[in-house]
Amino acid sequence: MLIITDTQQMIIETAEKVAKAFGPEYWRKCDENEIYPAEFVDELGAQGFFGLAVPETMGGSGQGMTELCLAMEALCRGGGGGGPALGYLFGLLGTLTLVKSASTLQSDQYLAPFARGEKICAFALSEPDAGTNSFNIKTTAVAEGGGFRINGNKWFITNIDNSDALLLVAKTAPSGKEAAKSGSLSLFLIDLPNESLNYTPIPKHGFNYYKSNQLFIEDLFVPESALVGTLGKGFASLAPTLNAERLLVAAGAIGLARLALSSAVLYASERVVFDVPIGAHQAVQHPLAAAHARLESAWCTVRQAAAMEDQGDQSAHATALANTAKYVAVEAAIDACYHSLQAHGGAGYAREYHQERWWREVQLFRLAPLTQQMTLNFIGQHVLGLPRSY
Ligand SMILES: Cc1cc2nc3c(=O)[nH]c(=O)nc-3n(C[C@H](O)[C@H](O)[C@H](O)COP(=O)(O)OP(=O)(O)OC[C@H]3O[C@@H](n4cnc5c(N)ncnc54)[C@H](O)[C@@H]3O)c2cc1C
Repeated sequence: MLIITDTQQMIIETAEKVAKAFGPEYWRKCDENEIYPAEFVDELGAQGFFGLAVPETMGGSGQGMTELCLAMEALCRGGGGGGPALGYLFGLLGTLTLVKSASTLQSDQYLAPFARGEKICAFALSEPDAGTNSFNIKTTAVAEGGGFRINGNKWFITNIDNSDALLLVAKTAPSGKEAAKSGSLSLFLIDLPNESLNYTPIPKHGFNYYKSNQLFIEDLFVPESALVGTLGKGFASLAPTLNAERLLVAAGAIGLARLALSSAVLYASERVVFDVPIGAHQAVQHPLAAAHARLESAWCTVRQAAAMEDQGDQSAHATALANTAKYVAVEAAIDACYHSLQAHGGAGYAREYHQERWWREVQLFRLAPLTQQMTLNFIGQHVLGLPRSY
């Protein structure tokens, strides 16, 4: 049995309350009308969710990865579906990165407002030729008169239109062999809006309440103070964020899938076909029961991986478990959402029942922020000891 402390119970209950106030109908309307869920994000900030894992000395409540995962799961399960999985994650990106790497100035100007939810931060790493292979980025930051001149193109940069700051990764070392090493990339924190940054949305399959954009960076000048962490060590500064993303996406996927599953159970209990509720047929009941079993098992892995993170375990075993958690949680969630839609029959295809939206949303977690193939690459190489495959 997984132990829940009083504080954790309080976090779960608060998250469930927020999720109930912003339930499936709210997200359906946001998705259909492509409206940013501003009230929901404001409420997360007001309830202190963005500062949950920020130390108390820096304006947060000093909790850890376990509490972030519990909050994320409850926000999604309690009624949010996929919406909070991205909305909460975006609000955390800035804090997760700056807690370990911020200068004193960045702490005051950004970390504290991020923790209070007064400022939101977007993240720009991916480029048309650099998604899975981040080291292939072509955006450059060239040292110039007390700062850096940045030029390049990014894509899929999500929520930049509703953000106050941007964490941007650029190359600060020569191309060629050097670019394949972590010593070549640097991380910058930039105020938004900025006239050297222009973006245009990429129409997409789901999560239409957050716009994902092509971003054009033209002659952007930033002062030295915009550099986060050490020059050329951008990936070291990002490591806590990229690791946390895996577990938060896993927790969000499980919460979303549990919501989809519970609505399928309700529907299967009430919908009568051939004189019995459809849930009495094993062909309907067993896939739902199997989905539940898979989600429970995946949740144990997420909790274990989060606990190791909270213990400061940076071993390959801990990283392998985080990759495993992301992999199994997302596969279990996709399976559950699929069977939830099937159990609804034709109604599952109608927007009114939410299943089709959750089905579109859950697919994203196989692709982003880290693809399932990359989690398997890690397990294949570092756990099974197979040759590196790429
Ligand atoms: C809705 C959405 C929002 C996003 N938001 C952001 C954002 O805010 N900021 C940001 O920086 N990025 C964002 N991204 C980008 C996202 O992180 C990338 O799409 C993701 O990392 C995959 O990169 P890619 O699309 O270039 O795929 P590619 O790198 O082109 O890969 C294509 C396929 O090949 C597989 N593949 C590639 N190499 C290997 C290998 N060695 N072994 C096995 N399989 C391999 C991949 O797993 C994938 O399935 C977003 C993407 C989406 C769809």
